[in-house]
Amino acid sequence: MGTTRREFLKSAAFGLGGLRLSRVPFERGSERLPGASRPVVVSSANGLRATERAMEMIRGGADALEAVVAGVNLVEEDPEDTSVGYGGLPNALGVVQLDASVMHGPTRGAGAVAALEGIRYPSRVALAVMRYTDHVLLVAEGAKRFALEFGFKEENLLTDRARTAWLEWRASLSADDDYLTPEESGEPIRGFGLTDAWDGTRTYGTIHCAAVDAAGNVSGVTTTSGLAFKVPGRVGDSPLIGAGLYVDNDVGACGSTGRGEAVMKVCGSMLVVENMRRGMPPTDACLDALGRIVRNTVEKRLLDAGGRPNFNVNFYALNRRGEHGAAAIWSGSRFAVHDGERSEIRESAYLSRGGRG
Ligand code: ASP
Repeated sequence: MGTTRREFLKSAAFGLGGLRLSRVPFERGSERLPGASRPVVVSSANGLRATERAMEMIRGGADALEAVVAGVNLVEEDPEDTSVGYGGLPNALGVVQLDASVMHGPTRGAGAVAALEGIRYPSRVALAVMRYTDHVLLVAEGAKRFALEFGFKEENLLTDRARTAWLEWRASLSADDDYLTPEESGEPIRGFGLTDAWDGTRTYGTIHCAAVDAAGNVSGVTTTSGLAFKVPGRVGDSPLIGAGLYVDNDVGACGSTGRGEAVMKVCGSMLVVENMRRGMPPTDACLDALGRIVRNTVEKRLLDAGGRPNFNVNFYALNRRGEHGAAAIWSGSRFAVHDGERSEIRESAYLSRGGRG
């Protein structure tokens, strides 16, 4: 008599749980914090509008995950934001590849997509992965096929502005290839009247948004076009559960922006949530995880003259009581919050004063 895979997984999980229960007291109840007295929404600095939309929806009775996804959709569809969705800066081949993840506290659900091409709302595809599959992460062609099956429209996500930035980046790479550098051509590539397409730095940029509703239920989303001009197929922290996003309904949520490789190597967002579980306030929890990143950064190419990371990472955290905060390695970072009364941009805490190395 066959057992279905699901039945097998269920019985295996039950068996393990039984084993553990006989040895370790079950403590989850004692970790549970009281719920928030009113909803709170936290986002990266580019998410002020996202916090407003999410708050409006939560007040209207929407589920917190629906609300934060609707919030970040505003940025995914914004051609002026070159770090996310439509208008995002492309990879080294000029192709926009998107990463996103969602986590739903009440159902302990998670979904994600990585290296997704041609779909404007990767966060919605991640939501569909969570809701309609037995999986957590779909990538590349498979993710796109899945999105098309669910009715998402395929479109060219590369705006003229992002394409111009990519052409400028490619031209500046080397004097030994056949694309003239700006110095050689004497003529910067400025198509379509754009003069500010690329500022010469390879930007990171992402939107993270998390919310707790008045019942203390927490959800979050992180969505990005990732590192500008990345190696095709490169996946950052944003779609990786525990790295660019982590939610535990007993504790709270965390998301990250900045150098994804650094976050991935310390399971950054999970580390922040675990810090909060042990009682740290959100901002302290973020600063502690950033300290771990700094200690783990040993490669010379990633250090400035003072031996400090020459990149930035931001964490954004909130707990189920609605306490919230954000921190970065370097000063000058900001975050968006709707604290139930008003939405505003605030300064993030930081480890080091100065530029990014
Ligand atoms: N963390 C994202 C990544 O590494 C990028 C960013 O936040 O800017 O893909």
